[in-house]
Amino acid sequence: MAEIKPRATDAYPLATDGIATQDGLRGDDGPEAERVSREDRATGVAGEKFVTYDRSAVMRAVKSRDTKPELAVRVLLRPIAPGYRLNRADLPGKPDIVYASRKLAIFVHGCFWHGHNCTRGARSPKANADYWRAKIARNCDRDVKTLAAYAAMGWRTLVVYECELKDKASLSARFAEALGTQEAASAKRK
Ligand SMILES: [Zn+2]
Repeated sequence: MAEIKPRATDAYPLATDGIATQDGLRGDDGPEAERVSREDRATGVAGEKFVTYDRSAVMRAVKSRDTKPELAVRVLLRPIAPGYRLNRADLPGKPDIVYASRKLAIFVHGCFWHGHNCTRGARSPKANADYWRAKIARNCDRDVKTLAAYAAMGWRTLVVYECELKDKASLSARFAEALGTQEAASAKRK
């Protein structure tokens, strides 16, 4: 009896505060940060190994979904076209955001991981340079195949690189164009 549940509750503030302060998630990040720390909390409660938990492991687990750039993209998309779905694992490359009825898949890519043609994408770590170069080359190959798969399905794709979030106005305009063009096109067909 009594599978000591209270401990998890005691640990609440520790989990949120620790992670939030360490990684700067709190502060000017607004609702996005709040969402992330809520998920941290969930991890803490569900996790058995809460007491000995590894902070960076928790962060990794959280960041695999709902990454900050992804959340920022959703904030931009919501007023333009709210009806998206997230992380459709049944579609090629598991797109981050999907408008199925419009046949549009949106990928939010980290510049480094996907070899973007920008300063961040050009960064090359000195340690294990060959390893990283090979890994990023594999990612790029996979990205090319993924986009080709969508073209074959008759879908459109939109790739958003992390650095593009610096210019939210032009990104919004790009989204509006991608999501509006479709409507105009289908109206024309009618
Ligand atoms: Zn970039």
